[in-house]
Amino acid sequence: MSNGRVAVVTGGTRGIGRAISEGLKAAGYKVAANYGGNDEAAKKFTEETGIPAYKFDVASYEDVERGCAQITAELGPIEIVVNNAGITRDTTLHRMSFDKWDAVIQTNLSSCFNLCRCVIDSMRDRGFGRIVNIGSINGQAGQYGQVNYAAAKSGIHGFTKALAQEGAAKNITVNAIAPGYVDTDMVRAVPHHVLEKIIAKIPMGRLGRAEDIARGVLFLVADDADFITGATLSINGGQHMY
Ligand code: NDP
Repeated sequence: MSNGRVAVVTGGTRGIGRAISEGLKAAGYKVAANYGGNDEAAKKFTEETGIPAYKFDVASYEDVERGCAQITAELGPIEIVVNNAGITRDTTLHRMSFDKWDAVIQTNLSSCFNLCRCVIDSMRDRGFGRIVNIGSINGQAGQYGQVNYAAAKSGIHGFTKALAQEGAAKNITVNAIAPGYVDTDMVRAVPHHVLEKIIAKIPMGRLGRAEDIARGVLFLVADDADFITGATLSINGGQHMY
């Protein structure tokens, strides 16, 4: 049951985020979909779904503060946050510039701090909150060419468990989802021959669909999912069973 709660989905206009935004809207939530810079995709998204899109850079605390204030003024207090925005800047460590390291850490990990910090007081005051952070199988297992991405995603899993402990007394649950490889623009950028090898390792024999991840988010944000916190839900077709 959604109770018409306001949900913010970062990176909510494309890929996995879009499926999450649409799934939440269909379930009756008031959804604000954030995006970073792709105005054309955001415009198309809003035309097709009727969900408002909010442009702010999740890597910037000031931007996030402004975005959250705007969403609260237009839709109401934010009770659900899905930290989904993410980027890759892949290369091996000996070739990795500080900029590639920093961009991924700021966008994929500091973004969680930025969003959560901006909404936590209001959630505490209201005695309700649902936070879902999108981690990754590569944050659980590591991945060649991704020390920046694996470190950021691994950080998300630790962030989730720490904040879950802080939020519990105020009925704020904090969980993570660790997707395996999902068919989005991010994965379409992986060379075909590498992708074939990856799919061969997935017991279910296919890439994930964005909707597979959205289903997990809907489960975790429900009002009656109030005893599930600090958990990581792996949705990966059986690829990683640790
Ligand atoms: P996409 O590249 O398809 O979409 C990324 C989304 O994030 C876009 O909406 C983009 O906005 C937004 N975004 C990027 N940078 C920023 C920023 N600085 N501020 C605000 N929004 C930003 O990604 P996916 O759907 O594939 O991935 C979604 C999440 O799932 C990511 O965190 C990713 O790491 C994670 N994940 C993905 C997997 C996969 O196989 N696809 C596997 C495991 C985890 P814009 O349109 O403006 O660029």
